[in-house]
Amino acid sequence: MSHARREPAGNLLLRARVVLPLSRPAIENGAVLVRGGRIKELGRWSDLSRQSAEVVDLGKVVLLPGLVNAHCHLDYTHMAGMFTRPKLFSDWLKLITTTKSEWELADYRASWVSGADMLARTGTTSVADIEAVPELLPRIWRKTPLRVFSFLEMIGLTGRRPPQVILDEALQKVRSLPRSRGVGLSPHASYSTLPELLRLSAEAAQRYDLRMAVHVAESETELEMFARGRGDMFRWLERSGRDMADCGHRSPVQHLEKCGVLSERLLAIHANYLARRDAALLGERRVNVVHCARSHSFFGHEPFPLRRLARAGANICLGTDSLATTMRPRRQTVELDMFEEMRCLSARERGLSPRSILLMATRHGARALGMRGKIGEIAVGAFADLIAVPYDGKQVYESVLEHHGDVSASMIGGKWVVKPC
Ligand SMILES: [Zn+2]
Repeated sequence: MSHARREPAGNLLLRARVVLPLSRPAIENGAVLVRGGRIKELGRWSDLSRQSAEVVDLGKVVLLPGLVNAHCHLDYTHMAGMFTRPKLFSDWLKLITTTKSEWELADYRASWVSGADMLARTGTTSVADIEAVPELLPRIWRKTPLRVFSFLEMIGLTGRRPPQVILDEALQKVRSLPRSRGVGLSPHASYSTLPELLRLSAEAAQRYDLRMAVHVAESETELEMFARGRGDMFRWLERSGRDMADCGHRSPVQHLEKCGVLSERLLAIHANYLARRDAALLGERRVNVVHCARSHSFFGHEPFPLRRLARAGANICLGTDSLATTMRPRRQTVELDMFEEMRCLSARERGLSPRSILLMATRHGARALGMRGKIGEIAVGAFADLIAVPYDGKQVYESVLEHHGDVSASMIGGKWVVKPC
């Protein structure tokens, strides 16, 4: 890699053995011209090399768009390895609820920053993060170069705090935040909220043009609770004082539909357990479904209904979820890392092409966040959010998926995050 000539400031011409725009075929011996934080041109090196710009030859790498992590809980990063796979999903919920209550603001802060650092090093440039601790915002945004889309978590099991009060508090926070990052609403899950909170949140999201993220149909016991009004989650929540009148009628996905939540603004997290009509419904409503492959493995769920959802037209994205639900092998460390998620999915879904998986980790996530054409692809006018990984000279998409660890280079909005060396 060499830094050749230095030309007018702000113009940067990146050269790579392969440029992989994802919005069009790969370009061998390619180049990307960056100006003012955006992509101005892309093409073959021979066509762009006469541009007046500072040239950075990245060498034998694939240059691709930065990855879009469509679901994360940065503030749980330091819970890595704290939990083993629970027998019952509701036991897991009890565990994390207890842990959360024992943590202090400083714990969450350190955890958030460390998670953001992991993502930035390993090729994520945009992340949809669920914020359980809104007090950290907006100051914590300055601790990371990542494009963070913060979804404010709202939980309300009982009516003790009325849904309107919970929502108003979140909306007040939204209004207080600078517009520099994306903000959305996250009524936590179908089971941990009352229908009224879901309904009011969907109306507010529509009114204020906000995205929503909701955990849905993650576990079998949640399906059982909503569809049949029984099971361990049903019993536990009933004992906890939740009004269970919304149970025993329909699936969790149909419950969201009834509350007016299903739309293209929704990021439906997990959607592992679907009733017969659910995939079609998610497709019709153009919902974004976020699959978190390692978290799925951690719980040992039934196979993810990827093909049913894709056929129905749902926009399937990838996310890391948190390290609290990522298996940590003995004496090893685990990191938030979208390449690990892609490989985990690839190992499970043998028929799924590496290209399809990469699209889930880039363009699909961009669409989910309302950022189509701006992130998740190398296209003229898009933000210069780019990453480089070593190229082994073989199949390009396969080569990318085999990358382990930190990326060779990364930039967000034209600024280096991982400087090439
Ligand atoms: Zn989650």
